Amino acid sequence: MTAGHAVAPGGRPLLNRRLAEFGTTIFAEMSALAVRTGAINLGQGFPDTDGPEAVREAAVRALRDGRGNQYPPGPGIPELREAVAAHQLRFHGLRYDPDTEVLVTAGATEAIAAALLALVEPGDEVIALEPYYDSYAASIAMAGGTRVPVTLRPDAASGSYRLDLDELRDAVTDRTRLILLNTPHNPTGTVLSRDELTAVAELCVERDLLAVTDEVYEHLVFDGTHLPLAGFPGMRERTVTISSSGKTFSFTGWKVGWVTAAAALVTAVRAAKQYLTYVSAGPFQYAVAEALALPDSYYTELREGLRARRDLLSEGLRQAGFGVFSPAGTYFVTTDIRPLGVTDGVEFCLSLPERAGVVAVPTQVFYDNQAAGAPFVRFAFCKRESVLSDAAARLRKLAHG
Ligand SMILES: *Cc1c(COP(=O)(O)O)cnc(C)c1O
Repeated sequence: MTAGHAVAPGGRPLLNRRLAEFGTTIFAEMSALAVRTGAINLGQGFPDTDGPEAVREAAVRALRDGRGNQYPPGPGIPELREAVAAHQLRFHGLRYDPDTEVLVTAGATEAIAAALLALVEPGDEVIALEPYYDSYAASIAMAGGTRVPVTLRPDAASGSYRLDLDELRDAVTDRTRLILLNTPHNPTGTVLSRDELTAVAELCVERDLLAVTDEVYEHLVFDGTHLPLAGFPGMRERTVTISSSGKTFSFTGWKVGWVTAAAALVTAVRAAKQYLTYVSAGPFQYAVAEALALPDSYYTELREGLRARRDLLSEGLRQAGFGVFSPAGTYFVTTDIRPLGVTDGVEFCLSLPERAGVVAVPTQVFYDNQAAGAPFVRFAFCKRESVLSDAAARLRKLAHG
């Protein structure tokens, strides 16, 4: 959503041409609406409970012991780089050298921006699946790239969104530099299948494209399996894999993310990253290193807890009359509002706090092709069960007029 932008006294716009189309994010607007109306905020995707106590305590210990209070090393502290490499091997069977193939970043957001700033030449085309995470379009623009959306389409038969591989192939031109892929996918909850990823990998190899993959929901998969694109034939040397501690450990405010990739790619991304933040989150890096080594039971409980909450909110939304696309991954559920007799998600979301005391986000704002997203609305279920039950009860009022 683009707000009106300020102009300098001389009348020239303050915000430069690359960013002019990007206003305040929808989240700020909807969260303000939630505060004003006292509605339950299922708009922005942050958990309403913090992650493991032991991890929080590890951060306190690091702070008190004076670890990370001064600039940590540029690539990240060795303990965290080793923990990230061990995690990639443990969960995905991918081997990375902690010294040359891992880079710690200020969240996945900085990793995405740095990867695009490093790898995209002005005028290069970047393919991204829409609806897309709201930082993608702005990061591509800051890098001087041209975004080329490929639209995930709702598929009634499977009750989920699917990638049209022909559409993806047709989107590649001689100017395409890279594919920016997000799986598990926010906001649709789609988890790309082995066949789909095989086709993406073949296309990258055939057309000599790089891939940047946003895998922040790698541990939140309820149906199917998360497969990193870097594990497919020919992809290790052309894929920048990005993840973060925010979603996996429920500390979204810590902003500890990472890149794993072949050394040449990490060196390139680091060249951009060092002039964005240089380093960040010193003491938190020690805590996240410990978090990554948590036993499998932690990861299983996180997933199963969210699966239960997915089912709780999805059922409530169905009873309220929404069309529900059951998410295979992430902590968002996308709904179709047309069964409720309306078609404009933006209008619907602006009126929902008054009508039902709940805040949601219109997915239209995540599209270039806005018509494709108009009747869809996203709800977050990373909230306590009591909050979700309350929200579901409030939404059921919609079904009864
Ligand atoms: C939350 C989110 C991010 C941002 O991750 P941070 O580590 O908080 O920067 C990136 N991509 C997607 C798809 C997300 O949902």
